[in-house]
Amino acid sequence: MRIRTFDEYQTAYQKSVDDPEEFWAEIAQNFQWRKPWTKTLQWNFSEPNIKWFIGGKLNITENCLDRHLIERGDQPAIIWEPNDPNEAGVTLTYRMLHDQVCRFANVLKRNGVVKGDRVCIYMPMVPELAIAVLACARIGAVHSVVFGGFSAQSIADRINDAQCKVVVTADGSYRGNKEIPLKSTVDDALIGCPSVQKVIVMTRTRTPVSMLKGRDIWWEQELKQVTADCPAEEMDAEDMLFILYTSGSTGKPKGVVHTCGGYMVYATYTFQNVFQYEPGQVFFCTADIGWITGHSYIVYGPLASGATSVIFEGVPTYPDCGRFWDITDKHNVNILYTAPTAIRSLMGFGLDKVENHDLSSLQVLGSVGEPINEEAWHWYDDNIGKNRCPIVDTWWQTETGGILISPLAGITKTKPTFATLPLPGVQPILVDENGKEIEGNGVSGNLCMKFPWPGILRTTYGDHERCRQTYFATYPGLYFTGDGCLRDEDGYYRITGRVDDVLNVSGHRIGTAEVENAINMHTGVVESAVVGYPHDIKGQGIYAYVITDQQPDGHDVELTKRDILATVTRVIGPIAKPDKIQFVTGLPKTRSGKIMRRILRKIAEGDTSNLGDTSTLLDPAVVDEIKAGAT
Ligand code: ATP
Ligand code: MG
Repeated sequence: MRIRTFDEYQTAYQKSVDDPEEFWAEIAQNFQWRKPWTKTLQWNFSEPNIKWFIGGKLNITENCLDRHLIERGDQPAIIWEPNDPNEAGVTLTYRMLHDQVCRFANVLKRNGVVKGDRVCIYMPMVPELAIAVLACARIGAVHSVVFGGFSAQSIADRINDAQCKVVVTADGSYRGNKEIPLKSTVDDALIGCPSVQKVIVMTRTRTPVSMLKGRDIWWEQELKQVTADCPAEEMDAEDMLFILYTSGSTGKPKGVVHTCGGYMVYATYTFQNVFQYEPGQVFFCTADIGWITGHSYIVYGPLASGATSVIFEGVPTYPDCGRFWDITDKHNVNILYTAPTAIRSLMGFGLDKVENHDLSSLQVLGSVGEPINEEAWHWYDDNIGKNRCPIVDTWWQTETGGILISPLAGITKTKPTFATLPLPGVQPILVDENGKEIEGNGVSGNLCMKFPWPGILRTTYGDHERCRQTYFATYPGLYFTGDGCLRDEDGYYRITGRVDDVLNVSGHRIGTAEVENAINMHTGVVESAVVGYPHDIKGQGIYAYVITDQQPDGHDVELTKRDILATVTRVIGPIAKPDKIQFVTGLPKTRSGKIMRRILRKIAEGDTSNLGDTSTLLDPAVVDEIKAGAT
């Protein structure tokens, strides 16, 4: 399953295009199946209807847990690092994790959960979150994890969309110096959720909670009523494994559906190859399990590979901005996988809290979630990887189940800000607005996929037509990612942002990410967001929202603007100069840390009456500030 050289990558890639079925069938042999599949793939992108490993039977938890017991039962599966560094952490071996998953699976069964039922999980980043996820998978229940920072309304929307029968939560959670009352938020949500019959509450903070008789039960009490004997449910490869709502950067979140067989194979294959995982390594993905990154690269990919996966409850800046590096040294982390937003925020604090760390255990660094700007890439490379750890800039989506375009660590030659090359099995194509293929190199266009890979979404829950419309209707016969992309002279791919975010300035197509990259290179700029707005002469004008380390005032405002324009001119050219610059103290971000450009676009267009779905916004107050200062 492991590719070890660039030649092997090229051979594997060619084979995956020439004979995809044979290619994936061979990889799937590395897993434990109860019954082999009879046909590897059946697909069309018009309905769409995509099935992998047809007729195959399995349970993903047998692959993540049971099959490791003999060889590595006593190896740590999960290392849990609590929010407060002075609190004792937890290490669960594969044997302990297996035991706890089986027990909690029995708790779910005892409370009426059967195969196919949907279970909403709204929990802190504690081992019990992974246990609850795996317990659902054990008995064939469909998990829908909702990130523990969402509001009651957002939880209610997701519970109702999926018609969840049970909610698993905790009394509260710790994040930095905050204590967040989870159960009371669930209580507010459940006022409008008639499908929910039981709420299982784990004890974390001992925040006082109201427990409704007949509906609410304690995790710890329930565990006393069950044994550790829970045979895994036999699942069809195409049975639903989970629903996960997208982060909502571009509109109302979609309930993306992944199935058991294909998702397992794809998450695991990409984990081992992209990060070049070696047995015994410690893997630290800083994402929350509430996002796809956490599903695929904290839980399923690492555990199916028998790796040791770190779960971190807190935030990168608590108790100070050296926390990631504390954890890296404490647990001898070998592979670190984080997001540009985290890197940029840590960059802002300088190097004091980096230089007092060893970091010599690190071997591979990863980035995910948005385009990584050049400055952040180099900061990560120089100061964290000490120029000796390959950086994998991994491009993918909730809908893709796993990484699609990325270097293989240490194998693919990297180039800052480029996700580089497609993984084997991934067939990207760039098209113009009319869906016509843009061939050759040194071109940009809309990024699509022309062939399915095992981890592709199967539907959006309860609304197959929305799935068709969103991903398969724009360019018939293709899966449309919604992202704009550049393919350079070497055939390397660079994601330039959402297609909606590609500007057309006087006939030139410019990615917002490119302009932001240039602005961010200007001294004192912490972060920026660029959108287009209607412009009489140019068609589209460029509007930049800029955060600086010292907010300019008075005369400085105009001078700083001119300096920024000079930097952009030098980096890209005068064509990319913003027409308007607004200094702000914050940007509207989703809870996964992505900028909601659609809101900024509305403000730039002067249309602030209807900002659309803002339920996944982290801090709604910044929107008012930005509206007030719009130019
Ligand atoms: P929604 O679909 O609800 O608008 P979202 O697209 O933000 O939300 P995700 O599936 O979490 O939800 O994010 C996928 C998107 O993140 C990609 O389409 C791409 O725009 C961006 N992205 C992820 N990784 C990278 C990367 N390495 N480089 C550039 N962009 C990335
Ligand atoms: Mg998306």
